[in-house]
Amino acid sequence: MSTEDSAAAVSRLCAACGMCCDGTMFQIVRMQPGEVPAELGRLGLKIRCRDREYYMEQPCSALREKRCTVYEQRPVRCRLFNCQQLGRVERGETTESEAMAMILETRALVEKVRGLIEQSGLREDGQALVERYERVASTPINEELEPELAAVREELEKTMRELKLQLNREFRLPPGSK
Ligand code: SF4
Ligand code: SF4
Repeated sequence: MSTEDSAAAVSRLCAACGMCCDGTMFQIVRMQPGEVPAELGRLGLKIRCRDREYYMEQPCSALREKRCTVYEQRPVRCRLFNCQQLGRVERGETTESEAMAMILETRALVEKVRGLIEQSGLREDGQALVERYERVASTPINEELEPELAAVREELEKTMRELKLQLNREFRLPPGSK
């Protein structure tokens, strides 16, 4: 695959995915030395500071219809991040259509988790998926008094485990990569 073809494939795959920006894979993106948090904040990114370390909250406010609206000015870690699927396509270890199938399969799991979180009573609130999941999972339920809710919880826990495994196996890079 030529460099041009590879770049076009990456662009198509990311446009169908968005999971490294929409709060599915990450809760935060750490700022790097030399970055100016105020400048990134002026782009509308959700820049926060804790213990004198700056980071950007996810889901990212610059993501629109799975596309980065600040692409030329995006943070350093966003520039460096290439998920496993993209790496495999670029190295010729997998085809674009295989990577696309994996993305669609994983996105379907994400949608299932989102649906089960809503069925559990937590509406979409703009937080990262894992935070929303943990809020639901830490709420006690009475299995005898709420058997339907207990069944939803069980399905949610199972689907979230499946999703985490798939993200680790197919998308994530070693810790600290974004
Ligand atoms: S997870 Fe990979 S394919 Fe999906 S948007 Fe991020 S870099 Fe692109
Ligand atoms: S700045 Fe762009 S690349 Fe970075 S997380 Fe936001 S949408 Fe994604």
